[in-house]
Amino acid sequence: MREKIAGSSGLNSWFAEKLIAWYKLNKRDLPWREEKDPYKIWLSEIILQQTQVKQGLGYYQRFIKRFPNVKQLAEASENEVLKMWEGLGYYSRARNLHASAKTVATRFKGKFPEQHQQILELKGIGDYTAAAIASFAFDLPHAVVDGNVYRVLSRVFGIKTPIDSGAGKKMFQELASALLPKKQEAIYNQAIMEFGAQYCKPGTPDCENCIFSQRCLAFATSNVVSLPVKAKKTNVRPRFFNYLVFIDAKKNLPILKRNEKDIWQGLYQFPLLESESRLTKAELIKTAEKQFKTKGLKKALLLSSGEYKHLLSHQTIYAVFYVFYPIRPHLPTAKSSSVKNLRNHAFPKLLLNFMKDCELTEIV
Ligand code: SF4
Repeated sequence: MREKIAGSSGLNSWFAEKLIAWYKLNKRDLPWREEKDPYKIWLSEIILQQTQVKQGLGYYQRFIKRFPNVKQLAEASENEVLKMWEGLGYYSRARNLHASAKTVATRFKGKFPEQHQQILELKGIGDYTAAAIASFAFDLPHAVVDGNVYRVLSRVFGIKTPIDSGAGKKMFQELASALLPKKQEAIYNQAIMEFGAQYCKPGTPDCENCIFSQRCLAFATSNVVSLPVKAKKTNVRPRFFNYLVFIDAKKNLPILKRNEKDIWQGLYQFPLLESESRLTKAELIKTAEKQFKTKGLKKALLLSSGEYKHLLSHQTIYAVFYVFYPIRPHLPTAKSSSVKNLRNHAFPKLLLNFMKDCELTEIV
């Protein structure tokens, strides 16, 4: 049965008015705030998915400097785009961004589409991002629903329907649309997201002093911490990565591009041996000699790192790096890079962390 939203009739005036007034006084000064260029809005929205503003800011500024418009982004190589994205994670965002820039450059002749439906058709753009671009850039009446919006709406209106259920998604989208004030779509969308990010945060916000303290149902019923409700638990899968850094006498080493449909697609890595569980050094050497058809690894092992733990949303990677020197196994699909030029390629953050900790140029 559909949950009834208490106090939702005739609500868009008080709710939107309070939010917009709060936003005008409390908004953070961010470079994309008053932006009307859909390309820059799109870029900021993609960077900020799963990323904190503090971390994303520098990336946004570097992207805008290097690619001031969508055509320049479309003309870049995928490797350059990934290199610039390096360290930000969720690399499919960068690949989709690049693919969609090409679509805008060709299908739309470099002009960002102005219709909500056309925006939604671009790769990597879902309901939230399409609504953000449509409302911020073109003042179209589309309500954004992101994690912040789910939190604010579920709490103020006391909605217990899970946000990750079909019924929940529909209900929140309908409520968000009903709340959207005419001719103030852009500022209202900004306001509700900023309020969720800055004030009505996960955990225990300062409800006593909140603009909604008199009307918030979650506060009135002591349900703040339990809202919003999520039905499904995220299953986190452990994976064990053993990276083999084979450095030859000329200080070159093989690196491989990850092409399979998996995390970090399109990025480079050292030869990888993935195992079901942690391996002892002896097990690693035995398995690596077999897999890479090479001998003498025990003698060539220069060092092994401690274990690196890398958290992703659905996986936890436990990685160990083994550096061998001097050795050159036959890896026909690998690219050869000098140790010195290694950083010209785009690597996942996990590997960058290892490179930072272990200065390869210093040890061979
Ligand atoms: S009263 Fe508390 S839970 Fe309700 S909107 Fe304000 S901060 Fe959020």
